[in-house]
Amino acid sequence: MTTQIPYVTLNNGVRMPLLGFGVFQIPDDQTQQAVEDALEAGYRLIDTAAAYENERAVGRAIAASGIPRDELFVTTKLWIQDYGQDSTERAFDRSLDRLGLDHLDLYLIHQPFGDYYGAWRAMEDPSRAGRIRAIGVSNFYPDRLADLITHNEIVPAVNQIETHVFFQRTDDHELMREHGVRHEAWGPLSQGGQGFFDNPVLADIARTHGKSVAQIALRWLVQQEIVVIPKSVRPQRMAENLDVFDFQLTKDDMARIADLDTGRSQVFDHHDPAGVKWLGGVRFDT
Ligand code: NDP
Repeated sequence: MTTQIPYVTLNNGVRMPLLGFGVFQIPDDQTQQAVEDALEAGYRLIDTAAAYENERAVGRAIAASGIPRDELFVTTKLWIQDYGQDSTERAFDRSLDRLGLDHLDLYLIHQPFGDYYGAWRAMEDPSRAGRIRAIGVSNFYPDRLADLITHNEIVPAVNQIETHVFFQRTDDHELMREHGVRHEAWGPLSQGGQGFFDNPVLADIARTHGKSVAQIALRWLVQQEIVVIPKSVRPQRMAENLDVFDFQLTKDDMARIADLDTGRSQVFDHHDPAGVKWLGGVRFDT
């Protein structure tokens, strides 16, 4: 039986699946197969980025699936080198071309560095013309998010940020809730790092529900209506990661998981000047 994935409604009325499939770090030559498998498993939200250099393969999988376009929710992201009014327009067109689509469901500013104001103003335009159903941001910490909201017309529909049991982002979540910005979690399994799958608290909770550690970690997010986009190249794990809508974590489970928060990124520190400088120099063939 195919899992029914719930939808959430974004601040502009667009509906988005609560759980989707991420393709970061899937090599281009494996992406088409992975996305075809994910669509077959029942995923309808696909999350890619110009910087992942696999948009073409995502596009091929979508075309091969034969699934009606309006049943899919496709997200891609604009990389730093393409920020600015004119270059954003061009980068958007190139992403659409690579994906083989005539519109995007969600277009995100990938990083809060460089001329993201120019990028945002450019993104506000085509969104009105209907070529992007929703626009949003990624990796915006509360100060940058508040700044962007305060000085622009459209409030981002989504902020996609690292969120998992070791980095829970409760203050970010509250700010986003206040402003009607949907919280989307990247790295919901902490990319498997920090002993994620062997964590004794998660393993114990998993045992009580007859579920896996991954399912507990994903359930913890979707139970807060945080959109999740786990990545796996293995069909068995794709199915496992979808199967999180037939049980509930208890108050006690939630309290035990709250204690796992380290309050720190496990992947990249967006406040580290050296990291910011490094990221600004990373270029892709977009
Ligand atoms: P995840 O937290 O989704 O972890 C993926 C890792 O977990 C892979 O090594 C995968 O291995 C493994 N895994 C997946 N499911 C299971 C399971 N059930 N049991 C055991 N291991 C499992 O990391 P990602 O960084 O990929 O995050 C998800 C998505 O978020 C990305 O693909 C991307 O779309 C987005 N993202 C966005 C970023 C941004 O800056 N906006 C940054 C990073 C990610 P295997 O494939 O071998 O199964």
